Amino acid sequence: MAQTPQITESMSGAGQVDQGDSRAPDLVLLAPMDGWASPLAEVPDPVFAEKMMGDGVAIDPTGATMHAPCDGEIILLHDALHAVTLRAVGGAEILMHVGLDTVALGGQGFTAHVAKGQKVKAGDRLISFDLDQLAQSARSLITPIIIANGEKFSIVTRRENAPVARGQEMMRVRRLASSQASPAAAAAGEFRRDVIVPLAHGLHARPAARLAGAAKGFGAEIVFLAGEKRANARSPIALMGLGLSKDAPVTLIASGSDAEQALAALAALLESGMDEDEAEPVAIVGAPAMPIDAGALAGIRAAPGLSLGTAFHFKRTDLAVPEAGRGDALETAALRHAIVAVKSKLGAAMRKGGAQSAILGAHLAFLDDPELARQAAESIAGGKSAAAAWRDTIDAQIAVLKELKDPRLRERMADLADLKRQVLVALGCATAAPAQDLPPDAILLADDILPSEMAGLDPTRVAGIALAGGGPTSHAAILAASLNIPALVACGEALQAIADGTVLLLDADRGALMIAPREPVREDARIRIATATSARAAARASAQSLCHTRDGRRIAIDANLGSLEDAVKAVAAGAEGCGLLRTEFLFLDRQSPPSEDEQVHTYGAIAQALAGRTLTIRTLDIGGDKPAAYLPFPAEENPALGLRGVRVSLWRPDLLKTQLRAILRSVPAAQCRIMAPMVASLEELRAVRRLLDEARDELDMRETVALGVMVETPAAAVTADILAAEADFLSIGTNDLTQYGLAMDRGNASLAAQFDALHPAVLRLIAATTEGAGRAERPVGVCGGLASDPLAAPILIGLGVTSLSATASQIATLKADIAKRTLDECRALASAALAMTSAAEVRALLLRKGER
Ligand code: PEP
Ligand code: MG
Repeated sequence: MAQTPQITESMSGAGQVDQGDSRAPDLVLLAPMDGWASPLAEVPDPVFAEKMMGDGVAIDPTGATMHAPCDGEIILLHDALHAVTLRAVGGAEILMHVGLDTVALGGQGFTAHVAKGQKVKAGDRLISFDLDQLAQSARSLITPIIIANGEKFSIVTRRENAPVARGQEMMRVRRLASSQASPAAAAAGEFRRDVIVPLAHGLHARPAARLAGAAKGFGAEIVFLAGEKRANARSPIALMGLGLSKDAPVTLIASGSDAEQALAALAALLESGMDEDEAEPVAIVGAPAMPIDAGALAGIRAAPGLSLGTAFHFKRTDLAVPEAGRGDALETAALRHAIVAVKSKLGAAMRKGGAQSAILGAHLAFLDDPELARQAAESIAGGKSAAAAWRDTIDAQIAVLKELKDPRLRERMADLADLKRQVLVALGCATAAPAQDLPPDAILLADDILPSEMAGLDPTRVAGIALAGGGPTSHAAILAASLNIPALVACGEALQAIADGTVLLLDADRGALMIAPREPVREDARIRIATATSARAAARASAQSLCHTRDGRRIAIDANLGSLEDAVKAVAAGAEGCGLLRTEFLFLDRQSPPSEDEQVHTYGAIAQALAGRTLTIRTLDIGGDKPAAYLPFPAEENPALGLRGVRVSLWRPDLLKTQLRAILRSVPAAQCRIMAPMVASLEELRAVRRLLDEARDELDMRETVALGVMVETPAAAVTADILAAEADFLSIGTNDLTQYGLAMDRGNASLAAQFDALHPAVLRLIAATTEGAGRAERPVGVCGGLASDPLAAPILIGLGVTSLSATASQIATLKADIAKRTLDECRALASAALAMTSAAEVRALLLRKGER
């Protein structure tokens, strides 16, 4: 159904707006240019569509000059002249941003008519732009007009889905009252109010969006409770997900400093009926109950790519677990049989090979864990059934993992949950398995998907995966990446509100899930998907060639390895060598360290699998956050800043010496490179070199072996010249460099969206590294996660990096993408990125350049 032009009101009737400041008149904003006014949610950039910058309206301009929407003062004019912020007389700040990704134009095509600090009148010219030039070089011309200080102001009416002429009324903005909550009420913290939904068509998209918009004007946390369901009032999709129809009861709960006002405002807004016309039908597109203005959800990329498909909620088998046991002997035998049955199923699946083998192998190891067996036996002896005992044992383990700081260990919770489920199913606790009638091109929606559930799906019907929870390094994410299925994690509970059958556009690279996109957007996606598919096939066909830029600069594309199987796969995928062998796999999950001979055997096998290609072995990188039973680490407040990386090796030089001897004995010197993790000072490198020399002496070895350092701390990056004077090479670990550079825990889920190695601060640390190493003429590679991101490769090359060590699945794409670039292009991108203000800006630039 076509949208009707409309002026929507976020609040109506002066009487009920008790959070509004009645002394201040509403601010009227005039359209700054001719064009078409659209809801912000339709802007193809989550930063605006998700209202991260604030609420507002977007204009698709037909005019080429932006005028002041009201009287005020220019408080910000971006250097690139594409964005200007005006402070209106009452204090509202209005940000106007011409086009998307236009910052990258560096001012070309723009003329400013005002300067910062200048007072302007409504209708004065602010910025002119060359429409033709922008149409060619910008991702989109759509121009968001945003209320930037939404914590103080809210939009009460707005013109949307309609043409606008310059000077015509476009928005009305009202100042919110400052908090008047009494200290006692604030201390009590929570206010509740029961409301009967008066809306003719229930709480559908538009009122949900308006309620959410109003909620965003308050600092208070506001939730809507309907039976068992709970929704954050700031999330329109979550509100819609409550499924509230007319006359349904709902409880509003607000807590926080301005909770009382927030509650009063939202309840009044809802009770007002929100001008919902009885006769007006609900807009529907694609699927019943999926409104067109639902916008996009933000998630975190777990596997790259773009897919267009149909929403399908993953259906999970219900389990019924009897609590009481039927006697020790019977229950013990039942559990044993169930575990054996699961093991044989896993063993058979493992023998098929593929990316899941390693994961299934880890599951098999869990099933053999004596501690699990002991706890389950105790529980059975205490009168529990086999199923209840197994469930409780695994739940206790999951609770332990939950407390761990290492994200990769925490993500293993999903593996344990998976094993719990599989054994319970083998014990007969499953009710009939629901049929997964996947539509073609299904976009699977779920809270989380267990690896065994992934394995049971038909990958030819799964076009994408979006999980409400999960982490980017979960096994489900790894499996999705290995199957080339684009995937997003951490999309939030709003996923639940998406109806099966809704058309979805999953853009993993942009971290966005677009709900019921319009036909032109779908068509554009189909073309991009077809182009990407044929490009992938072509890239795979030439993956075995050495990598060069278009103008002939050699860039080595290596693989990161964690096992012998990885080495075999990497060679098949076109790896030119190994830029990082994580040796921890030999040291963790055991009661004593591996002997020198065991290490000789393993490193030797990997070197052979690489058939003469360079093997870069990282010395042991464990610490308080990745503990080993045989290393009694002292208790630490901050394990990430404590005994970790090379510090452990220097604390226990006996372990390092054994490892170095094993490496020297097993890998030919010409093929071998050794590197130390988490180096922060030259002294550490010298200490490692002393031990390496001792090992060579002990083995009567005359050849030298390259010794490098990993640049993972800001200290190493800014002293790269000093380190490079004595190191044979530097390799940047962007995961830790981002963690320490941005002072952000790499495992903190709530920071995941900001944890981005393309942050200009991290890029500047990389630039400092290549510059410092360049002075000593030492090569710099990147082996952290950023090296596996094809989007980032041109920047890294432009910054002077000469090798990338990536996950095997990205090697073909990396080689093909790099072959399309010249060194000069890479340098230009790198210098533009270094001057940007956020990772989001850098990503936007790269996406636009990548699409050319
Ligand atoms: C890094 O920190 O970027 C890195 C490669 O090491 P790890 O991820 O193993 O800590
Ligand atoms: Mg690291």
